[in-house]
Order: sequence, then structure tokens, then C-alpha cells
Amino acid sequence: MGEGEGGGEMEIIDSHTHWGPSVTMSTEVTTRELLKQAQQSAVDRIVIFPFPSTALVDEGINQKLLDEAARNEKFIPYYYIPETMKPIPSGKGFYGGKWHWMRGIQDCSSNYQALEDPRLGEFIEASEKIDLPIVLEEELAFTEAFVKKTKSLKIIIPHLGMLGGNPMDFSQAFKGRENVYFDTALASTDTVMRYIEKIGHERILFGSDIPFGTMKRELEKVLSLPIGDDKKERILSKNLKKLIGLT
Ligand SMILES: [Zn+2]
Repeated sequence: MGEGEGGGEMEIIDSHTHWGPSVTMSTEVTTRELLKQAQQSAVDRIVIFPFPSTALVDEGINQKLLDEAARNEKFIPYYYIPETMKPIPSGKGFYGGKWHWMRGIQDCSSNYQALEDPRLGEFIEASEKIDLPIVLEEELAFTEAFVKKTKSLKIIIPHLGMLGGNPMDFSQAFKGRENVYFDTALASTDTVMRYIEKIGHERILFGSDIPFGTMKRELEKVLSLPIGDDKKERILSKNLKKLIGLT
């Protein structure tokens, strides 16, 4: 349970942070930094995944991240899905996956050829069986095409879709899709509220996107929402716990 001022007795889980070195930004998010921010903000547990640039150079970062999570009970490790579309390995301790601009153009626009890859069907089928969520960052049209291919695979769209298009277009496209979730990282309070009004609070997850955001600021945003504590608690931990089967 959280003990700090911020969350009172509410449990808080940050569903989106980056851990380890970044090749392109020549920086590193250390365990120490994540734990420091968690302590400051009374965050109980932290989802971590590797930086895309690092994972693309060396897939071994997935194992390093897993090893680090084994040493720190606060960490919840996600697997970086490589461009070969290997599904999350089961039985290793990963709680989810990160799919990031698969073979994207300049790392910020979707490569629609990835949707035609014959391995995609197998990837989705295997991922449905593994039944762990995948944080999927792509443009709206790509995301829609991907989501059409599956009824049960749980997908988390980061930043309320902000980096892949207009967030409200994302909420419109997926409001009837019970398997599609969203995280609040870097989105404005106003957009978060509009989402809650449109799709409810059950599919929204708190995330900070460290190092691009801070836990403190991102958490304050959720805590300041004009909604009841029960709904806040769902966004801050319960929705994610249910999603990844965490007790
Ligand atoms: Zn991120």
C-alpha cells in the first residue's frame, strides 16, 4: 500500500517507464532514479521496459531488464517485441510487451508494410494465447488495422494516442473495444477527463513515461482529476492489476 501524502492508502502503480540505457539519447535511466521517484511520490510498483533504440541494437536488454526486476520487487518487467515479431516469451516473468513503431520510419511514423508481414498473424495468435497486454505505439490508422485483427488481445495505447494522432480520434475509434486500454502519460488533465467521459475510467491506466515525464507531475495530474477516489484507485492501480493478473 502507498504510504506517502500523495496517494493516501491507495495503491499506486506506474504503468509506463523506460529502464536502462538509451542508445540514441546517450542517457540511462537507472534503477536508483526510478526508485527515488517512486519513493518521492509513494508509488508502490513500476512497470519497466527497454528503450527502443537499445532493444533494436541488442535484444539482450530484455534479459537484463528481467534480471533487474528479479532483484527489485517494485519492478514489473515488460518485453520489448523485436522487429522479427517474436511474441512475449512465456514462463519467464514478463507481465506485458512493448510494441513501438514496428520498423517505423524515423521512429515516429508507422510502416504499414509491417501489417502485411506474414508473421503478424502468428504473432497475434500466439499473443492472444499468452494473454498479456501489449503497449502498442503506432499511428491511428495502423492501430485500427492492428486492432481489427484481434478480438481478445489486450492492447494499451500510450499517451491516450497523443503521439499517433489526435487523442479524441483514438477514443472515438476504440470506445466500443473492451480489449483496448490507454495510459495517461504526458496527456493533459483535460484530455484525460474527456476520455473518462467518453469511455469510462475502467480502461485508463496511470503512467509517467520516465524519463520523458516525472512520476510526481504525472501522478499529481491524476490525483487532481474531479472524480471519486474509487475511480482514481482504478486508474492508479486496479485496472492494471486486473489486466496483468497481479495480486
Ligand atoms: Zn514511453
